[in-house]
Amino acid sequence: MQELAVIDLEAEKKEILKRYRGLLRACRRTMEKGDKLLIRKAFDIALEAHKNMRRKSGEPYIYHPIAVAHTCAEEIGLGTTSVVCALLHDVVEDTELTLEDIRVLFGEKEAKIIDGLTKISGVFDQGSSQQAENFRKMLLTLSDDVRVILIKLADRLHNMRTLDSMKHDKQLKIASETLYLYAPLAHRLGLNAIKSELEDLGLKYTEPESYREIQQHLKEAEPERKKFISKFIVPIKEILEEQGIKFSIIGRPKSIYSINNKIKTKGVTFENIFDLFAIRIIIDSPPENEKSDCWRVYSIVTDFYHPSPERLRDWISTPKANGYESLHATVMGPEGKWVEVQIRTVRMDELAEKGYAAHWKYKDSGTESQLDDWIRKIREILESPEENAMEFLDDFKLNLFAEEIFVFTPKGEIKTLPINSTALDFAFDIHSKIGEKCIGAKVNHKLVPLSYKLKSGDQVEVLTSNKQTPKEDWLGYVVTARAKSKIKNALKEERRKVAEDGRELLERKFNHLKIDFSASNINDLANYFKLPNSQELFYRVAMHNIDLKHLKDFRQEHGKIVHKSGSLKKEDNSQSLEQMVVTARGKADMLVIGENLEKIDYKLSPCCNPIPGDDVFGFVTINEGIKIHRINCPNAIQLLSNYAYRVVKAKWTSPELISFLAGIKITGIDEVGLVNNITKIISNELNVNMRSISFDTNDGTFEGTVMVFVHDTHHLTELMKKLKTVNGVFSVTRMDSQ
Ligand code: MN
Repeated sequence: MQELAVIDLEAEKKEILKRYRGLLRACRRTMEKGDKLLIRKAFDIALEAHKNMRRKSGEPYIYHPIAVAHTCAEEIGLGTTSVVCALLHDVVEDTELTLEDIRVLFGEKEAKIIDGLTKISGVFDQGSSQQAENFRKMLLTLSDDVRVILIKLADRLHNMRTLDSMKHDKQLKIASETLYLYAPLAHRLGLNAIKSELEDLGLKYTEPESYREIQQHLKEAEPERKKFISKFIVPIKEILEEQGIKFSIIGRPKSIYSINNKIKTKGVTFENIFDLFAIRIIIDSPPENEKSDCWRVYSIVTDFYHPSPERLRDWISTPKANGYESLHATVMGPEGKWVEVQIRTVRMDELAEKGYAAHWKYKDSGTESQLDDWIRKIREILESPEENAMEFLDDFKLNLFAEEIFVFTPKGEIKTLPINSTALDFAFDIHSKIGEKCIGAKVNHKLVPLSYKLKSGDQVEVLTSNKQTPKEDWLGYVVTARAKSKIKNALKEERRKVAEDGRELLERKFNHLKIDFSASNINDLANYFKLPNSQELFYRVAMHNIDLKHLKDFRQEHGKIVHKSGSLKKEDNSQSLEQMVVTARGKADMLVIGENLEKIDYKLSPCCNPIPGDDVFGFVTINEGIKIHRINCPNAIQLLSNYAYRVVKAKWTSPELISFLAGIKITGIDEVGLVNNITKIISNELNVNMRSISFDTNDGTFEGTVMVFVHDTHHLTELMKKLKTVNGVFSVTRMDSQ
């Protein structure tokens, strides 16, 4: 036995060195004199510091920092400083080494980056507001040194790639966070390759069944796809070669995540998604000819295949805010199939895959300033005081995903805004003072209101008045996180002033009733009216939402304020929430649905309608007891990643006794007798009771909804399988909500 272990260690040592040499090879492109020594030094220190540690999988810990450094160099294109920091990214947190050691051994820059990495490592480990606050800190480092975020993304990517060895609940939590924050962040930084991989891996753990199913389908369809692509590119290749254009063509399937999204949002089956893959033509073109060369290729492609006019996207003339440049066209290929063709240069392709880091390599490109602009804006939003970090996070996330429009200032300067931005968003984008004083705008020389939705190409002139102040309903007019946060701050300031008046009013009343105007009495009163804080109490008093006459019913006893009906009970929500979590978890650390029913107040959440057999979890709500959600509920990711401490593991007891309501959506061609056939199948199915059925027909197609009572998922799947066999039925899917 002893001997075996020794041999193992030797093999491991060899493997570590092999991986280290692989890292050096990946660094070669950016390495300068002396860099190799630095990397070696960092590697030796990390190796020594982690020498007795192993990962959950049993592998030596050092595999992890090497892999993270490798991703930084190879997939993001970062340089030596980042590679050094990636190798050392876990030492300050997990080993004896301190930041001071790093500063002495390497320098100020390295110490700062590792400090940033150590601080954000706990982003999700605390309660929800703390998480959001930490996330804000993480984004703040973006403009200090964006490398912190890039290394963090590489770290997350490796953790996702090795997630198999974690426990199931940990997997869910990490995968949810990844989908909730890290993938959108990678997207915004233009790291498309990493974004797609994070999304696919996230899906693999949050919706394992869908993931496997699509993966299987893609594999089966591969030979045919390859045949189709080679047939498609034959004539194009010939002309490109004839014209002496250097090029490469790849045909790659869309990501599993994006296919799954399409199935969900469009309600189609895998077989009915036509754009399963895109063909990418990458040309080698000098900077001055890039644009004309790409359009030349477009013209060659459309000589053979007819383009769809609505689906031409030109991100070369106006790149996306994350720097993405490319020309996309959808053309009618052989066999009557639509094919997406992406045309771009080598430089554009590298930019699309490696994002921010590639910007450094092509410093002259105009897109760099756009990204800088974005980072500057984030910093501004982050630095403005905002009480509710969660709310901020949601606004911010919306902006990460939003599609963009391009509009112009009166001087012809171009501005990028999220889709659905209004004249008011535009005003705040120019300057917060302009936003606050905005009374309307002229769009293409026509007068429009604040709430006017802008379109790409609009020219906007903001009209202001010194008498104007931000209003509550403005929050409904804007979509950008920046405008929302500025308006909220201005309103809060206004509220604060009103509350000051309320405070004086209340103090006079207290004096009159001979009640001490003490913090604890004020708090008790706020609690009595179920208000979150004294500020809100003062505000309502000032606004006469709380009638001071009611205060006659209060008096003071033993220095404490009491109501004539008895003493004021303090209601502490957070306490009872914690207790609820403990009760729900019970002895087995798990909520068994259907068992301790009497004791625990739980509901099946209407947003996803779970039924026995579904993978589920319990979520402790503030006012409505525990809600049971499906793991693949549309709201699950948000709940699991932000409120992990309120999540309770749950499983079903034997289900025979109870029936659950489930919804099925059916689409197809409207044929005579079809509804009859469908209802016949349902009523013939043992133990299925139909609650409601409704059908909409439109131009020969129909869409139907059937609500049935079933025992479990197995039961439901059986029924759905049978429904699929009905003539004319096109798709049968389970609905998330009623
Ligand atoms: Mn790590």
